[in-house]
Amino acid sequence: MALKANEEEQRMPQSAKTLILWFRKDLRISDHAALATAVDEGFRIVPLYIREPEHAGTGPLGAAQAWWLHHSLEALSASLDALGASLVLRSGAADAALSDLITETGASAVFWNRRYDPSGISVDKALKAKLIADGIEVRTFAGQILHEPTKLKTGAGGHFRVYTPFWKALDGSGEPPEPIPAPKALPAPEHWPKSEKLSDWDLLPTKPNWAKGFESEWQPGEDGARKRLADFIASGLKGYRTRRDFPGEAHVSMLSPHLALGEISPASVWHATRGLSDSYSSEDYIHFRKELVWRDFSYHLLFHFPDLATKNWNTKFDAFPWRHAPDLLEKWRKGQTGYPIIDAGMRQLWQTGFMHNRVRMIVASFLIKDLLIDWREGERWFRDTLVDADPASNAASWQWVAGSGADAAPFFRIFNPISQGEKFDPEGAYVRRFVPELKAMPDKFIHKPFDAPFAVLKEAGVSLGKTYPQPIVDHGKARDAAMAAFQGLKTE
Ligand code: FAD
Repeated sequence: MALKANEEEQRMPQSAKTLILWFRKDLRISDHAALATAVDEGFRIVPLYIREPEHAGTGPLGAAQAWWLHHSLEALSASLDALGASLVLRSGAADAALSDLITETGASAVFWNRRYDPSGISVDKALKAKLIADGIEVRTFAGQILHEPTKLKTGAGGHFRVYTPFWKALDGSGEPPEPIPAPKALPAPEHWPKSEKLSDWDLLPTKPNWAKGFESEWQPGEDGARKRLADFIASGLKGYRTRRDFPGEAHVSMLSPHLALGEISPASVWHATRGLSDSYSSEDYIHFRKELVWRDFSYHLLFHFPDLATKNWNTKFDAFPWRHAPDLLEKWRKGQTGYPIIDAGMRQLWQTGFMHNRVRMIVASFLIKDLLIDWREGERWFRDTLVDADPASNAASWQWVAGSGADAAPFFRIFNPISQGEKFDPEGAYVRRFVPELKAMPDKFIHKPFDAPFAVLKEAGVSLGKTYPQPIVDHGKARDAAMAAFQGLKTE
């Protein structure tokens, strides 16, 4: 590879212009429209990643995703090295970082792939205008989602609020573009500018290293994303439609953290499910694509309602009588609620930075409707602890569960943590993995140890209130209280 890069260098005319390729939420070299265009047009390329201040650019970075970002940047850096290039790291506001680098390299152009979160859009808009005014060529490209939020419109020309017509419009608007292959080499600038050291960014936890459990679970970076996709197609996709709700089984792709930082493009994921042999049921891969499109739909909502993470879409919920209960919130965060499926989910989140989708819905419902705690507390906790934390999917999903969102579950759909556990984790495989103190409980009581006779608890080595908590609320009573609070809203 290095040889190829040198050959490329010898072919570069002295007059070739230099371009800054700004990586953001697209930490990959395959299917990267900005990168491919820069190579096609013969630029010398300086790849750049900027660690922007909190709340600017890529948005607030949670601690779990910071761990991921560290490893993802390492992987991107290795891919670029192999192409004869070197990733330049800078921190600070994007306009200052870019203008410094333009001065240092003499770059005449900046290319990037577009991002769609409100803080990113506002940074990019101002920056683009400033750079153009300074005589720098700026070109931006699509690729973070399947269809850009302004592209799909309702029959009346507005934006969508309901998922099914959105899916129909997206599915009916043709296939996303075919993925673009990775370049074989990147023409280098005449001089490499200085880079900050990734290790100085302190993205990894140290004392304590709470991310130990992440290491065996994940391989951040483009290779890890491709492997995850190949494994899923080989063994998880068959049965996806019916089995994707069972957290103890391996029928989901776990691609979300790779998609969140753009290590794989959604178009590549979409196209990987084309042309599969007859042994794959179309029900499975179409359902998988439909889930992928929820991600696009969430971005569509966020684009048209930038306050999605902080304000109720349905303002009726502004009057909801949320409870201030820090002790209950802490028990939920730590997975100490006394409801095994909730505790398993919250501990999976803490140990691995991920939680199965079905369980996300159950724990979110529990926080909002059993504990009557504001959904924004949950959104914040997930943002800090999920490796796939995503400004659109996280906010849209929390509002979906709360009932306050655009196309939301009705408030009265209150998940019962016992029957949900019994239905979707019937033998308790998931609970036993993450709540080991209940490992020896018989299936019959694995989701309701509080109903087990004393002898059964004793036999399983469980002492309620000592080795495993008593339930922090009574679900039946909590349900009634939630409905009363909701009815109060309706009559106001
Ligand atoms: P798969 O079932 O394999 O689906 C493939 C891809 O489709 C996913 O990787 C994801 O990109 C997309 N997808 C699937 N379901 C959804 C969905 N409901 N909404 C949006 N996209 C979806 N997803 C995030 O990526 N980031 C978040 O911060 C996030 N927060 C959530 C919070 C709550 C309360 C809930 C209920 C859901 C949240 N989700 C979030 C959506 C969903 O749970 C995850 O995308 C999914 O569990 C990821 O696992 P997977 O890759 O195995 O999914």
